[in-house]
Amino acid sequence: MNIPKSVKTYCKKCKKHTEHRLKTFKPGAARAMSKGQRKHLKKTKHGYGGKFKFPIKPKKQTKKPTFIAECPVCHSKRYFVIPKRMKKAEIAAKE
Ligand SMILES: [Zn+2]
Repeated sequence: MNIPKSVKTYCKKCKKHTEHRLKTFKPGAARAMSKGQRKHLKKTKHGYGGKFKFPIKPKKQTKKPTFIAECPVCHSKRYFVIPKRMKKAEIAAKE
């Protein structure tokens, strides 16, 4: 699905609606000592108790597309999540 380059949305800093520009969101690297990782280490590296496996959950086939919206007035950024699951979402090249 094609998503428009700019979206008119509320800016918390300006306290009004402005034309935000959308950028692609790239998640950073996972933390080495996150809660889940610590739990995994505790269950696997400490003492006896055999192998520990996280319970298998069915993986979702689609994702909610996330972008970064930047306000042109104050240059503040925030997440812009489209609350609908879809396989592919791209920012339109032309408008
Ligand atoms: Zn603003």
